[in-house]
Amino acid sequence: MKKVAFYTLGCKVNAYDSAYMQELFLKNGYTPVGFGAPADIVVINTCTVTATADKKSRAAIRRAAAAGSKVIVAGCMAQKQAKELLEMDGVCAVVGTDDRAKIADVAERLLQGQVCIDMVHDIAGCAYEDMHVGTTGDKTRAIVKIQEGCDNFCSYCIIPYVRGRSRSRRMSGILDEAKTLADTGAKEIVLTGIHIASYADNGHLLGDVVCALDEIAGIRIRLGSIEPGVLGEDFIRQVSSAQSICPHFHLSLQSGSASVLKRMNRKYSPEEYMNFVNLLRLYFNRPAITTDIIAGFPGETPYEHNETMKFVEQAGFSRIHVFPFSAREGTKACNIFPKVPKRVAKERASALIRLGDEYEMKYINAMIGRKAQVLFEDASDAFKGCLEGYSERYIRVAAHAKSNELKTVTIARVCDKIAFGS
Ligand code: SF4
Repeated sequence: MKKVAFYTLGCKVNAYDSAYMQELFLKNGYTPVGFGAPADIVVINTCTVTATADKKSRAAIRRAAAAGSKVIVAGCMAQKQAKELLEMDGVCAVVGTDDRAKIADVAERLLQGQVCIDMVHDIAGCAYEDMHVGTTGDKTRAIVKIQEGCDNFCSYCIIPYVRGRSRSRRMSGILDEAKTLADTGAKEIVLTGIHIASYADNGHLLGDVVCALDEIAGIRIRLGSIEPGVLGEDFIRQVSSAQSICPHFHLSLQSGSASVLKRMNRKYSPEEYMNFVNLLRLYFNRPAITTDIIAGFPGETPYEHNETMKFVEQAGFSRIHVFPFSAREGTKACNIFPKVPKRVAKERASALIRLGDEYEMKYINAMIGRKAQVLFEDASDAFKGCLEGYSERYIRVAAHAKSNELKTVTIARVCDKIAFGS
């Protein structure tokens, strides 16, 4: 019996790509095993968004190779560094960010004795690779990929170079997949992509996708990261009419300083971003606004860092992810000077994390006495005998509930950022 193991790094898009490839292996007679268990084929689906991601990807490849499996390296790092990866011990094939449909055939060729298969090709002008996922596996939240690539070329980001230009999935394919997943027990659909705000299929935009999915009974819909510069009030008004949309919006900020945003080549100003946040608060009841911020971008002065700190206070984010700047070779930010010393970038990141924690606690505590609709998933460590899951506003909530149950509870108290509901 042929066995396959997967190890997936990076974002939800990569998780979706892995789920699709895993299903291809199942259809081809493979038995899935956990990473680390003996396997004929191991697929490492890599991420290259930061230097740390590269390091983790290489470490996973070494581990799989040391166990004697035939290793296929897929994903963003494979797209960027195919030749170097093929030279690593144990790496038998590379598959980039297109042609994932061929991965099971590649595995067969390896098992028949072929070596060094390079499936990576230039992705310029590629069409959307049509993928379909039929089950959520052991997860209760289903990721549905609706878009690939990005046209924005933010000065720090390698993604447009490794995933190509923006292209969208047919809306009919999205609806079919969401219906199948709902039929197999999914209670939440997370719409994901590299830049879902730019979704466009024959005149259908992101808001149209949300409204079409709203017709599927028994699921709620959560949006992946969106960009304020692309979407406006029409979009907010449209999605606010959907009954099943989660009032949780991840708006990637990166900096609250206009001059830093300009150097980053982001397509909005802090004012435009704040207007979007205010509109969300107008159309939705207490929406959760979460974000990502880069600390210590090249040239960032103490004044600009303080602008970001002030912006975080004004926006009242319910959660922020902060990353000290990490230069990616081949991006414009590598040539922006002066660099912020690593120590300073880390200090700024710590200050932002502390501030973010403060606002996160404020947001969670303000939920005490209010109702939350929670999708319960795992056993809670904080509240023994309870299950935990995410509320529609992306708060971690524990309560007595069943796994994969979508249940409304009232928040009674909070412990370590986890709310307890009954
Ligand atoms: S919007 Fe910017 S940061 Fe996001 S994927 Fe595109 S280029 Fe990268």
